Amino acid sequence: MKHPVTRFSLFLILTVLTAACTEPSSDIAVAVNESRILAAEDDTANWLSHGRTYAEQRYVPLSNINPGNIDRLGLAWHFDFPTRRGIESTPLIIDGVMFVTSSWSMVFALDARTGRQIWSYDPQVPRIWAKNACCDAVNRGVAAWGDKVFVGTLDGYLVALERSTGAVVWRVNTIDREQPYTITGAPRVIKGKVIIGNGGAEFGVRGYVSAFDAETGEQVWRFYTVPGNPDDGFENEAMAEAAETWSGEWWKLGGGGTVWDSMAYDPDADLLYIGVGNGSPWNRNIRSPGGGDNLFVSSIVALRPDSGDYVWHYQTTPGDSWDYTATQSIILADLVIDGETRKILMQAPKNGFFYVLDRLTGEFISAEKFAAVNWASHIDKATGRPVEVDNADYNKGPRLAWPAPFGAHNWHPMSYNPNTGLVYVPAQEVPWLYANDEEFGFIKGQWNTGTDALLGDLPTDPLQIAQLSANMRGFLLAWDPVEQKEVWRYQHAGAWNGGTLSTSGNLVFQGNVIGELVAYSADKGERLWSFTTQTGITAGPVSFELNGEQYVSVAVGWGTLLGILGGPTVAPLQMQNRSRVLTFRRDGEHVLPPLPAKVVHQEPEVTGPPGSEALIRSGHAVYVERCLSCHGFSAVSGGLVPDLRLSNAAVHEQWDAIVLEGQRRPLGMPAFAGILSAEDSQAVRMYVIDRARALAESPRTPFTGM
Ligand code: CA
Repeated sequence: MKHPVTRFSLFLILTVLTAACTEPSSDIAVAVNESRILAAEDDTANWLSHGRTYAEQRYVPLSNINPGNIDRLGLAWHFDFPTRRGIESTPLIIDGVMFVTSSWSMVFALDARTGRQIWSYDPQVPRIWAKNACCDAVNRGVAAWGDKVFVGTLDGYLVALERSTGAVVWRVNTIDREQPYTITGAPRVIKGKVIIGNGGAEFGVRGYVSAFDAETGEQVWRFYTVPGNPDDGFENEAMAEAAETWSGEWWKLGGGGTVWDSMAYDPDADLLYIGVGNGSPWNRNIRSPGGGDNLFVSSIVALRPDSGDYVWHYQTTPGDSWDYTATQSIILADLVIDGETRKILMQAPKNGFFYVLDRLTGEFISAEKFAAVNWASHIDKATGRPVEVDNADYNKGPRLAWPAPFGAHNWHPMSYNPNTGLVYVPAQEVPWLYANDEEFGFIKGQWNTGTDALLGDLPTDPLQIAQLSANMRGFLLAWDPVEQKEVWRYQHAGAWNGGTLSTSGNLVFQGNVIGELVAYSADKGERLWSFTTQTGITAGPVSFELNGEQYVSVAVGWGTLLGILGGPTVAPLQMQNRSRVLTFRRDGEHVLPPLPAKVVHQEPEVTGPPGSEALIRSGHAVYVERCLSCHGFSAVSGGLVPDLRLSNAAVHEQWDAIVLEGQRRPLGMPAFAGILSAEDSQAVRMYVIDRARALAESPRTPFTGM
């Protein structure tokens, strides 16, 4: 025991040396350059960019795994992330190495054959930044170019890492640090420029997308998606024209239009397509009281990737008032329509219509409903505009509408299989009660929807919740984009299922909300194979080939929007977060460690006498406005953040210190002093105690299905 430190150091040195000597591929960083990425379609050994190719079809021409041998598909390896929040990442595969992100924007380089970690990078995102994220501390992946990989961090930095070591090459701030921006999307790289947007439209920001030089991190251009204050002058002609479609003083409310996920690129046309999100706040009568389309919210915009110059736009939801973003997957394909081969772009945005556009001009070709929609009757073919129905206008009174802000399809990637000609959409039907917020007051950095959140909260009666949960439907939809019609669907147990991958082996892979990765036949939708993943899946799977063997990988981990918000609609699933990558191949025999036993029913401590009914009601109103987005509907946790109903006496004693003064800031709980009064804070406490009492008195009904 004389030299424990020395012996430990020696051990470390040996470990590092051994690792260095046995590194097969990480120090051979063959550049990901333009010619390589343009040839990605046939390069089955790699998955070089977010949607596999610039067309973002998420289709792999590999058929080693097919319906004839799918029963041999088994787990090859798993890798545990050190995080416990939702996972939305699409891995990249480059020369035998997987690059995948976890929550809190961490990056991992893994040996794609074995799952062995080569390096990891933790940007040390302050946990408090999660208050600026609508939908969990998620990240959807990295981009690669040259000898680097790039990640956008939740707190707004873009970081270039050396691909072989994970060392930081450069790190640039992409936001005004006083504004509640977040980055959750994967960057894309075009001709040496790293393109990245951001989120925050619920919190009062102005959206934009920027390009940075891949070598130096220098900003090359920035394109704003909504106009700023006209008195400051417009950045370009597109903004001046967009301002004609706004009224009032929208810039004081941010305007929104964030570019938080989808992009695609057509190298022949040299057009970058970006998906633009909802307006800020949601309610258009507050955002732009004189009306107008509010360009470019809820639009697809085509830009020149070298300059960020505007080329064309198509707005899916003019004057959006429902959080109907157009940030969902953009897929490029060449389709024969009316006997003519057209270069088209497809999107199934939140608003429930499946769009086919001419991607050279933005011309509307067709659109049909792919899920329950009752805000518009159809898209007018002559104008390309939706025809709104009376149910759209919730300023005339509360309106029960489909789709919900969750979308008929959200960010979960869809895929296109050129063999079947079908698009595989993770679709869903969730209702939402929209109502005008009569007492709206804008607070930057807080949820600003302009809708009455109290009306949108869930009932507390278990029977009503069960009925509502039964109405939250999710399904895998195979859609014919030429005929604009459904070909088949597979009904899921609930909403919020995973992204899709299609292969030339006539397969579609998709994870689901109850923790299974499933393979379906691409032509008919027959369920052929499944694997129990122990945790919910929202991310899209990938596939690649190494040494003649086809692999399928998916990043899994319960959480993301529904895990945070879903409350009583998802709590019965008792879904635990196991943040992992799972990789499969034929005859894989790896086994996951057993899952710890589920907690069947936790007993709350009822820590005080009930408050008056009026106090509980006012606490509920404050709760839905300021607390619900993290702590869940009806103060029921979906499993990621503490269930407030289980707060013990010590928490209740420290209540104001936690809620108002920020005692738990390092854990991500913001200080609400200046936003909530001491009376508000205590009213919320009374509401939480009331909810704890209801839990204590509730019958112990075992969960039987969602
Ligand atoms: Ca939104």
